[in-house]
Amino acid sequence: MSFDIYGNPLRPGYCEAHPDIAEPFPCSICRHRQQLEQGRIEHEARIANEQREFRDKAAIAAMKAILSNESYSHLTLKETAGLSFEMAGQMLEEREK
Ligand SMILES: [Zn+2]
Repeated sequence: MSFDIYGNPLRPGYCEAHPDIAEPFPCSICRHRQQLEQGRIEHEARIANEQREFRDKAAIAAMKAILSNESYSHLTLKETAGLSFEMAGQMLEEREK
């Protein structure tokens, strides 16, 4: 005998995750949930990608500004890069407020 996810006996042809739905697993509710989950994952990936692109562009802009500013001329290239990414991070935080 098969059982649903709650440990109750499963009627033949019913969804084991939704034992009241007379469709085999995955039922239409399961499939709808999978689509929502897939949409959420894709949305988060898109946001993360946009954030990465924004931060990279901001870091390049910050680095150009630092390199052209006399008052930062004492910095090493490594320090300049570090400061650029720090500034880019701050700009990203500002944008998300
Ligand atoms: Zn289901």
